[in-house]
Amino acid sequence: MQRLLLSVIFILGISISSYSQSIPSPDKFLGYDIGTQFSRHSQVVDYFEAVAKALPNQVKMEKYGQTYERRPLYVTYISSEENIKNLNAIRENNLKNAGLRNGASDNPEVAVVWLSYNVHGNEASSTEASMLTLYKLLTEKQDWLKNTVVIIDPCVNPDGRDRYVNWFNETASQPYDIDQQASEHNEPWPGGRPNHYLFDLNRDWAWGSQTESASRLKVYNKWMPHIHVDFHEQGINEPYYFAPAAEPFHEIISDFQRDFQTEIGKNHAKYFDAEGWLFFTRERFDLFYPSYGDTYPTYMGAIGMTYEQGGHGRAGLGILNDEGHVLTLVERLTHHTTSGLSTVEMASKNAKRLNTEFSKFFDNSGLKYKSYALSGNPDNIGSLTKLLLKHHIQYEKVTTNKASGYNYTTGQQGNINLDENSIVVHTDQPKGKMVKVLFEPNAKLTDSLTYDITAWSMPYAYGLDAVASTSKIPSKPVKLIKNRKPYQPLSDAYGYVSDWNSMKDAKFLASVLKADFRVRFTEKPFTSNGKDFKRGSLIITKGDNLKLKNMRSTLDAIAKAHDKKLETINSGFSQNKPDIGSPDIKLINKQKIAVLSGEGTSSLNYGAIWHFFEQQLKYPVTSLNTENLSRTNLDKYNILIMPSGDYGSLLNEDTMNTLKDWVRSGGKVIAIDAALRSFAGKDDFSLKYKKTENTQETENLTAYGDRERENANNLITGAIFKSKIDATHPMAFGYGDDYFTLKIGSSTYDILDRGYNVGYITDTNVFSGFAGQNTLKNLEKTLVFGEERMGNGSFIYMVDNPLFRSFWENGKLFLVNSIFFVNNNAFEL
Ligand SMILES: [Zn+2]
Repeated sequence: MQRLLLSVIFILGISISSYSQSIPSPDKFLGYDIGTQFSRHSQVVDYFEAVAKALPNQVKMEKYGQTYERRPLYVTYISSEENIKNLNAIRENNLKNAGLRNGASDNPEVAVVWLSYNVHGNEASSTEASMLTLYKLLTEKQDWLKNTVVIIDPCVNPDGRDRYVNWFNETASQPYDIDQQASEHNEPWPGGRPNHYLFDLNRDWAWGSQTESASRLKVYNKWMPHIHVDFHEQGINEPYYFAPAAEPFHEIISDFQRDFQTEIGKNHAKYFDAEGWLFFTRERFDLFYPSYGDTYPTYMGAIGMTYEQGGHGRAGLGILNDEGHVLTLVERLTHHTTSGLSTVEMASKNAKRLNTEFSKFFDNSGLKYKSYALSGNPDNIGSLTKLLLKHHIQYEKVTTNKASGYNYTTGQQGNINLDENSIVVHTDQPKGKMVKVLFEPNAKLTDSLTYDITAWSMPYAYGLDAVASTSKIPSKPVKLIKNRKPYQPLSDAYGYVSDWNSMKDAKFLASVLKADFRVRFTEKPFTSNGKDFKRGSLIITKGDNLKLKNMRSTLDAIAKAHDKKLETINSGFSQNKPDIGSPDIKLINKQKIAVLSGEGTSSLNYGAIWHFFEQQLKYPVTSLNTENLSRTNLDKYNILIMPSGDYGSLLNEDTMNTLKDWVRSGGKVIAIDAALRSFAGKDDFSLKYKKTENTQETENLTAYGDRERENANNLITGAIFKSKIDATHPMAFGYGDDYFTLKIGSSTYDILDRGYNVGYITDTNVFSGFAGQNTLKNLEKTLVFGEERMGNGSFIYMVDNPLFRSFWENGKLFLVNSIFFVNNNAFEL
């Protein structure tokens, strides 16, 4: 009987129903109808595995990484049997088509579509939709798979998603409560949106600072899909949003990329119209900042799109929105499934065209700047090359000692000197458009109303001298195997000196302090053993470290691990003073650092600080919850970092007095960005808001329809300014006289009349990005970095957050300096 049945199926050929029989449906597999519960990440992985097991010839999973909380990251390839068999050949052919791999491509006709779900953990409907989309593709849409490879990443941010889902499961009523005020619709700090270190992964594509992004970039750049969709959710009262995107569009986006977005949007509209669903397009979500899940793929040649469903962390399983509609998870995931499938349909119907146009995108002969030459501190150049490698962008060594073009430091045409450490990045490489986006001095804005920052130019972020040249700068390839000299063990000496320029040096300091070395730093330049040492240089003497066993071999091991070359000094007597025993050469405290977290703090800024200490500097930090601050014994710490935040309710008179007393006795408070508001204009502080010039001299006759645009005049949306630096202050050791700062807001503070103005704005030229005209009037003579003493301790002010999204590499040393160098009279615990 069974045999007979099998042969009947065989004769009929594989029918759609046979697929549905062999593949478990999400409902059946999960044990509940999809959308009636939130699925845990492990269940989602299990479902994909079950489908891959049921149909191994069409579904292939690849683990591409692991989150900080050790959840696995997977992509799943779904296509016809034939394509899955040739998966690697299809991939390589695609790279050849883009010129990213040598050799002629073999007339590619297979479209590659990448669907990324749930980058924001609490926008949780999309991961549910990924399961239904997988099932429907295989059971209903086999035809499309003949010429399409679909890559599904069911959850880009598993740590954030499970944070949300676990919280919801432990909080929600049964049945769910549709009342907006119910606790299940109000997530506690920090919410499920970000990843473990509270980074917004949808702002991290270009920087790859988080392990999820860095792992994804590897597999993304291996594939280079033709279409990439990033699934999101917006407020509960919003309908559905899909492409075409809003202005501003970055100027490198091709006509085809614009047009095809519209074609896809119209295809979605057909399905949404048929059901009577509301949606909008062309508003709000623009294509400019390069670090999103839509722009990054776009600048890598794909049709990159964001889809937004109403819902978000508030919506739970069901919520009554302000329009009187009960919005359910089932409805949300149905919409995302519809748009996802419609995207694959469009890819399949246009597979050949997508390939032809994809190939055209990589012709970069029309770009204005042919080369970007960069010069400066070798450590910073080294950090930049690591970023370039993440995107498979090539760079070369210069073979000339001068280059001319747009000079980033002066903002004018001019020359820079180049040396053996200088590099050049050309735009006549396949990734040339991404090179332009990352390096050009000032990206052209077609509209000032944008969703995000408008400046990120790499030479400023890495603190390098640079020119953008309209002609190609002579260069030679970097040798793959460096002829690096092997590490030379230290000889016995009076002491050893490290220069102080970069995060590399800071990481070395953190390591030696953790190994219990006693380390000094110099506040004045000195000469010893024929070598000049600048301010901030670290000095490790034998005499200071007699208690350490195997002092020299331990130091060798640490220096080697950090790729550091230490200089030797043979005497405490310097050729040019100070001598090593001078009061200007100070012992560094092994600082005990606390950082505020929780309610009131910006989760993004707190997370960036947490990540900075744990993953970059690798130096311990204790997180203190703001709720417990009033009963915390601050005497256990030397440093208290206050991330950007609103401390209005926390810093009542009592807590403020406790904090001041702690500082007077030698503590240091480092306040970042909005945390400065807690002190500006308050008793005992010289920090003051800059009085705003009267900008209301004309009558307020702004039309209602112009209100958003008028408001933009008062905004700085991430713009780059040149600031003056007091390089003799310990907070600025390792820096020159100028520093390019990324302003992300328009709050301005006067220069301090008591205390040290370490960094301040004198030049209100916007070097890059958008700053509304009203803001510029208030910017002159305003503070960027400052120190105000109180008793034995200090308040340190960082108006511009140097850890913003962790990509402003050149700002990080200001924070390290503040911790280890500034006001070194502070007490030792
Ligand atoms: Zn989102």
